[in-house]
Amino acid sequence: MSGTYLGMPAFPEAAHDAVRDRTLRANLRHATHTIRDKRARAVAELDDWARLREAGKQIKDHTLRHLEHYLVQLEESVTAAGGTVHWAADAAEANRIVTRLVRETGESEVVKVKSMATQEIGLNEALEAEGIHAYETDLAELIVQLGDDRPSHILVPAIHRNRGEIRDIFRERMGHWGRPAPEGLTDTPAELAEAARLHLREKFLRAKVGISGANFMVAETGTLVVVESEGNGRMCLTLPETLISVVGIEKIVPAWQDLEVFLQTLPRSSTAERMNPYTSTWTGTTDTDGPSAFHLVLLDNGRTDTLADEVGRQALRCIRCSACLNVCPVYERAGGHAYGSVYPGPIGAILSPQLRGTQSEIDASLPYASSLCGACYEVCPVAIDIPEVLVHLRERVVEGGPVTRRGTKVTLKPAKGHAAERAAMRAARWAFTHPAALAAGQRLAARTRRFHPRTVPGPGRAWTDTRDLPKVPAEPFRDWWQRTNGGKDSAK
Ligand code: SF4
Repeated sequence: MSGTYLGMPAFPEAAHDAVRDRTLRANLRHATHTIRDKRARAVAELDDWARLREAGKQIKDHTLRHLEHYLVQLEESVTAAGGTVHWAADAAEANRIVTRLVRETGESEVVKVKSMATQEIGLNEALEAEGIHAYETDLAELIVQLGDDRPSHILVPAIHRNRGEIRDIFRERMGHWGRPAPEGLTDTPAELAEAARLHLREKFLRAKVGISGANFMVAETGTLVVVESEGNGRMCLTLPETLISVVGIEKIVPAWQDLEVFLQTLPRSSTAERMNPYTSTWTGTTDTDGPSAFHLVLLDNGRTDTLADEVGRQALRCIRCSACLNVCPVYERAGGHAYGSVYPGPIGAILSPQLRGTQSEIDASLPYASSLCGACYEVCPVAIDIPEVLVHLRERVVEGGPVTRRGTKVTLKPAKGHAAERAAMRAARWAFTHPAALAAGQRLAARTRRFHPRTVPGPGRAWTDTRDLPKVPAEPFRDWWQRTNGGKDSAK
């Protein structure tokens, strides 16, 4: 993923600092509560929301089960429509392909539609290293880029900034990148939007190359779909002569009809709108309209390995709506930067460790960045059971189990302080596989329960300082069962 996140501390350390930032907490609380309330109202309008959610889940699961078939079909459809398909196994290969394609146009500037995939591979930095300047045109991405910052939210990358901070960034930085901010710029939304519009307009009119991602790719026709709210995407997709789209392989849907589901669930879940203000679709090239050259870069970058994990693969259903971020109590307090990835919040906590497959402390810490309250699962429009995947990944971290990425065995290193937990899990496994010993231990615990301490001594003290140990019942469950069910002990 993006090099800008390299060297960041693990989640507990980063979050520890972030929760002390009052301005950040206030900005996040205001923004997430506003969006989540609006989303709840937008979703409540639909009687068939549960069925739409199930349909989205089924379409994604079906597509992922037959991904090989649909990818080949997509390549054929895009090629037949005049586009060119490139396959990228990882970030480095995708960046090499895009850099070469831009070079071949002779241009040294590109305009960009907001795209998580290009952030994931660190495309802007890779292009900059080759002397090619990439200009973000989404308003929030522009704020992040001008402020030399990192995105902290999937949908609202500058959610950690308030209006006063944005005005200051525009005043100080716009002139370095092109047209300066108007004299006397205030922090009213209309003035800020107008300043961005004027700044970006000259870039749209000058750029010969546009770069995008896509929300969906339709296998049967080779059509790509981008949904957005500002119209900047439409400009990038239509004005340049060359369009390069970098898209994760999981973004496929089999047929146009499938969009009927997602074009209802995505806008309501993300911006709480009934439909997106701009829904752009394009299929290859035409002689008289839009870019004359179209390249589609299909990105793997850890996705096929994620697909191999029976529990973890559901993360690939994600349509990046960000509803799970807006309801997460951990995200609301820690903010997006603490996750050390372009994918913050609950989805980031399950996606980043699977896509990256590294031994870094941050990846090992991410599955723990949750209270497992389940609010993320409740709002997810494709029913990703994020708590289930979090627990699965915690198990992997504790076990130090293998994570394969492109055939390489990699081990997620347990974060600091997990040795005791691992020992406890081993002891639990032994006890549960020896029922007689477990029963004897339970009886002993019941008889001695008056003498049990309320806190654990030694290294476990920190854990019990903030939690109460559960009370041991006077009679173990299996004894009660035997006593009340005719002497039948099902555990034997
Ligand atoms: S996991 Fe679900 S709720 Fe979260 S961004 Fe993805 S689709 Fe939206």
